[in-house]
Amino acid sequence: MHDCIFCKIVVGEVPSEKVYEDDDTLAFLDISPITKGHVLVITKKHYKDLLETPSSDLEKCILTIKKIAPKLLIALEADGFNIGLNNGEASGQVIKHIHFHIIPRYHNDNLRMWEGQSYQEGEMKDYGDKIRKFTIEL
Ligand code: 5GP
Ligand code: ZN
Repeated sequence: MHDCIFCKIVVGEVPSEKVYEDDDTLAFLDISPITKGHVLVITKKHYKDLLETPSSDLEKCILTIKKIAPKLLIALEADGFNIGLNNGEASGQVIKHIHFHIIPRYHNDNLRMWEGQSYQEGEMKDYGDKIRKFTIEL
């Protein structure tokens, strides 16, 4: 077995505050919540990130998110929520086992997400061209 804290949570070797479980996914509270009730949704199988995770497992995660998110709105009286996934260390990914964050949000929570930058003249098209030009087999 991987030396992976989330795999240990799946098998119960490490305790967690579970809020939902099915055959393929598990959801539990983040130990260090951005807002209280912050949930992590993981696959029970170990995949290191989004790109390594088969589409069928990604679909299952999204379906689990769709089951939990309304509970945060109703049971916690959240006004909205953010779904997040950090992919790669540069993005802030610390745990190398795929996980989606569901973060309850409130009108008065004073949290700010990232600030937007701006493009110089023509630069936006250059970025669009670079991304479009590169084709990859998925
Ligand atoms: P990342 O930065 O990799 O996207 O997020 C990892 C998240 O896992 C962090 O928000 C962190 O608080 C949470 N986390 C790390 N270790 C544990 C743990 O042992 N139990 C729980 N419940 N959450 C954890
Ligand atoms: Zn794992």
